[in-house]
This record gives sequence, structure tokens and C-alpha cells, in this order.
Amino acid sequence: MKRPLPKNAPRRSNPFSYLFVIALIGATLTLFFQPDFTGKRKKTELIPLSELISKYEKQQLEKVEIKDHKITGTGKNGKTYESIKETFAGVHDLGLNNPKNKTAVEIVDTSGEKFWMNVLMGAAPFLLLVLFLIFLSRRVGGSMGGEGGPFGFGKSRAKIYDKTKHKTKFSNVAGCDEAKEEVEEIVDFLKNPKKYQKAGATIPKGIILIGPPGTGKTLIARAIAGEASVPFFSVSGSEFVEMFVGVGASRVRDLFKTAKRNAPSIIFIDEIDAIGKHRGVGGGSGGHDEREQTLNQILTEMDGFEPDTSVIIVGATNRPDVLDKALLRPGRFDRRVTVDLPDLSAREQILKVHIKEKTLAPKSNLRKIATKTVGFSGADLENILNEATIASVKKRKKSVTQEDLENAVEKVAMGPERRSRRITKDEREIIAHHEVGHAIAGHSTKNCEPVHKISIISRGNALGVTWFLPEEDKYLVSEQKFKDEMVSLHGGRIAEMLVFGQTTTGAANDLERITKIARNMVMTYGMGDNKKLGPVIFTEKTTPYLGFGANEKEYSPETARMIDEEVKRLVLESEEQCKKFIKKKLPLLKKIAQDLLKKETITKEEFLAYFKQGTSKPQEVKTKTQ
Ligand code: ADP
Ligand code: MG
Ligand code: ZN
Repeated sequence: MKRPLPKNAPRRSNPFSYLFVIALIGATLTLFFQPDFTGKRKKTELIPLSELISKYEKQQLEKVEIKDHKITGTGKNGKTYESIKETFAGVHDLGLNNPKNKTAVEIVDTSGEKFWMNVLMGAAPFLLLVLFLIFLSRRVGGSMGGEGGPFGFGKSRAKIYDKTKHKTKFSNVAGCDEAKEEVEEIVDFLKNPKKYQKAGATIPKGIILIGPPGTGKTLIARAIAGEASVPFFSVSGSEFVEMFVGVGASRVRDLFKTAKRNAPSIIFIDEIDAIGKHRGVGGGSGGHDEREQTLNQILTEMDGFEPDTSVIIVGATNRPDVLDKALLRPGRFDRRVTVDLPDLSAREQILKVHIKEKTLAPKSNLRKIATKTVGFSGADLENILNEATIASVKKRKKSVTQEDLENAVEKVAMGPERRSRRITKDEREIIAHHEVGHAIAGHSTKNCEPVHKISIISRGNALGVTWFLPEEDKYLVSEQKFKDEMVSLHGGRIAEMLVFGQTTTGAANDLERITKIARNMVMTYGMGDNKKLGPVIFTEKTTPYLGFGANEKEYSPETARMIDEEVKRLVLESEEQCKKFIKKKLPLLKKIAQDLLKKETITKEEFLAYFKQGTSKPQEVKTKTQ
């Protein structure tokens, strides 16, 4: 994604310039109040007090000046003498009040000077603080991209997308047909707002795009602006929540002001859940107030729109469950548009949209890739094409082949291969049996997805993988499916146990997933023993408490114990089932594991062939490469 540079390039302020100013002020103060530093001193002779008094008595002086603890005498010879006296010793005590003596005696009043001195001395720390703050604000403003001036932190950071520069159209968005239909009306309104205003129609002020990450929410928002060719102001919810309280709100004000000035226009608030969280979600005290203030400011701005303001606010989130109800009330974000993960045909279309800039080998089949990518988002698919292209360039090929694409699918799904990892022979044996255990357990159940591939090449964090791949998009999961999934997850550990007599740490992740499934079944889907627990959902609420999130169970401790018992029962039952399956196929498991050790990967076809031929005769399986 390319972003235009901010208009005002960050102003780099030099910290030394501030130090210089501070030093200058300090120097001025010193000079001002310490006249001794000025050239005067050279002519002045410092003499003992007694000597100065005797000069007075001898009438050698023209003038005597008393200033605080200092006595300055100007001699008739033009010389200046200076002595120090006790601060409170007066003319009387010094004998300078002789009425016969014609020498002028002057007492200089320093109280005014002192007053200003005190004021300035008192103000100095404050002045320094102000200077420091200015310095800080410049730094903050500068480093975060724009509006550098002093105290400019309230300025909105919305990036302006110029209408001529930005040309995302609906044709760039593949699939998402319902979502596109719903926003088409908005586009029409932005194109000719007059038409709707004349008819007296109220157009939604805000729409909210809801969907998992990478499904194209940002893309759709930009396409709305692109289709209507209006300016697009984009800001992310998390950017609002910054360290200075009150900044979020002023930033919102600023953003709306700019958008109104450029109306018709679109304000896009990404990750709106970061500010729109309803009260009581998540702990933390600091950002909380700030978020609420920002949220309130958004609501105020939206309410304050005159009916003829043609600014439309588009929000995006993948967590609609945490949004504050106030945001979703009529007159605010009252339109919800769901952007789902793409289905088979949508995936194919997305691949086609993104392959346009790339060269595809003539025999490749994008449909096949689409069938292999159930559950992938648009962003994942784009990533696959990118990985495939990189691979083809590395191999100095002119076009992207089907093989590149398939490898890229695996890389994106399971992480890159790590052939460099040193794994001992014993470990490899364990890993091979573990993975085949998963495959056989899964294959033995009715509802598990078919085995797509078994591999003992390490990828990412995994030492080996058994890849189950659904053949079609599914939207409901049955109780039995959950149970079968648990059975196949037990497969690895049970195989280790039955073949080697002990288990290893390799099963930790499997156990974690099994427990999670069982817990969800009992607590969220009412799939536990209904006679014991009833078809009830058990939830936990997180309430902020003294700045920490405290978990509050909405069920009794007795129920908690029953839930634990149910979870344990489900896990044990699936383990028992898995043991039965694996015991039945143990010789086959060992055979497949040996082949896997030789070949490193076993494909779906190869795996299924073992079951067609039976276990007795070792069957030569051809290695196929597409
Ligand atoms: P989201 O905002 O929902 O997290 P994005 O809009 O940022 O997702 O999508 C990321 C990228 O994935 C886009 O820039 C685009 O290239 C690609 N993409 C996602 N969905 C689609 C789609 N339906 N059609 C075409 N490309 C898509
Ligand atoms: Mg996004
Ligand atoms: Zn495993």
C-alpha cells in the first residue's frame, strides 16, 4: 500500500538551539544583576573599611555611596575605593554622619532592584520549563509525521487522499458483492447530494464495515471514495489513543473540520474498536479516559452535523462485539456492512484481480488454488501470489507456474520450510510416527477434513505437519465434527505412546487445541451434558478494577467444577476413541511412517492409496509431481 508523504515534512529541531537560548538568558540575568562584572571594576580599588573611613574623615573623598554591604568612595583624585561593611551597619555606626564633613553621603535604595531580581529568579525555573515544553512538543509533532509547530499536537493526522491521485474502484475489489451493493447507495449520494436533499431523504452519517482482518475493508472504503471521486481522510483508531489526555478529542474536532471544509468527503476510521470499546472491556486506567473523551467527541461531531453536510464516516472493525452501543444508535453508525472471508468463487476472482500485474504460465489453474485456500482472506491470497512471483523470479523463470503457486499456498498456510534445522535420526522417527498418527486418526473419523499432505520438513515452529484441507466452504460445525477433530488431534501423541512407549513435548500444541475445543463445546456451544449443565452459555466478564482487568465468572464455583468435569470427559472420550482407531491400524501406521521418513512428504493421493490396497502387501506408490 502506498501512502503519500505528509504535506509538511517533519521539522527537525536542533536541541542545541534550545540550550543556547537558555544559556543566553542565564548570562543576561547574571550580567544585569552583577555590575561588578562590567568594566567598572578595573578602576576600583578594594581597601579596608577603616582606611575608607579615615579617607572620609580626612575629607579626601568627594562622595560616599552606600549600597547594601558595599561602600564606594569617589576620591578627589578621581580614584574609586570600595569597602565591605556589615549589611546592617548604618552611617551612624560608621561615623559617616559628621555634620562638619562636607562629603556627600548617599544611600542607594536597592529594594526595587531586589524585587525584580526576586521575580526573575522565581520565574526562571518556570521559563525553563516552558522552553522545555516547546522543545518537547516540537519533537512529538515532528516525529509522528507533520504539523510540527509548538503545541501542535492536537492537529489531526488524517492522511488526505487526493481525489485525482486515488483511483481505487469497485473493480479492484473482488467478491464482496453484498458489501459493494450496500455501499453503492453511499457513492451515489456523494456524487450528487443535491438529488437526495431535494427529495428530503436522510442519508446515513456513518457506516461500519465489519469483518476479519485482510478481507478488504480498507479497500472498500477507499473504493467508495474512488468511485465517488471525493477526498478520503483516513485515520486509525489506535492513533487517537496517545499519551496526552485530551489530544484525541481535539484531533477529532480538527479532522471533522477539515472533512467538512472539503465536503463532500469521506472520513475513514480504521480499527474503530480501539476508541469505540464499550465501557468495562479490558483493564487499564490510563488510556481509558482518553478513549472515552475521543469517543464522546466523535459522537458529538456526528450529532452536530447539519442535515445537508455531505461527509460520510466509514468505520472498520474486526471486533463488533466490543463496540459501544452509543456508536451504533440511529443517526450514527447505523449501517452495518459485513465483509466476510471470501468463498470459493470470490477467492478465484481475487486471485484474478491480483494476477493482472503478473505473468502467469499458460497451463496454470487459479481455480485449483482457490479450492485449496478455504478460510484464506483476500490479503492472504495477495500474499500467495506475491510469494509465488518471488519464487519464480528467484528461479529466473519468465512466468509464475502452478508449482510456484502451490508452494506459496503451503508457505503462507504453514510458514516457510526450515530445512536447515538439525533434527536427529531418532527425533525424525518420532515426528514421522506422530504425523502419520494424526493422519490415520483423522482419516478414521467420519467428519474430519481429508488429509491433504503429510510432511516432516520443519516449517515455522512446527517440526512436521499433517495438513487437513476442507473440500468446500462450511459455515456450521456439528458436535460430532468437534469430537472427530479432537480424535485426530490426539493421533500424534497416541501414536508416539503406542509405538515408542512414551510421549514427548511434541504434543503440547495438540493438547492445547484439544482442551480449547472441549472447553468451547461446553462453555460456548452448549454441547456438554445438558442434564448436568443445561443448554447454558458460561461467560466470564473482564471488569476494570483498580486499573487491572479482573475476571469475573458469571457462574458459581460448583458449576465451574462441573464444567471442568465435562471438559475432562470429552477429552478422555476422544482419546479413547483415537486409541481404538490407531491400534487397529498400527501396522499400516508404521509402514506409512517408514515411507514418510524416506520421502519427507506424502500427498493426499499417496495417502489414500494405502487404504485402497489394504495393509498386507507393501504397495509401490508413485511419487507424483504436478
Ligand atoms: P482489512 O482492512 O479488511 O484488514 P485490507 O483492505 O487492508 O483489509 O486488505 C488488504 C489487502 O488485501 C488489500 O490491499 C488487497 O490487496 C487485498 N484484498 C483483500 N480483500 C480483497 C478483495 N475482496 N479483492 C481484492 N483484493 C483484496
Ligand atoms: Mg484495514
Ligand atoms: Zn501433533
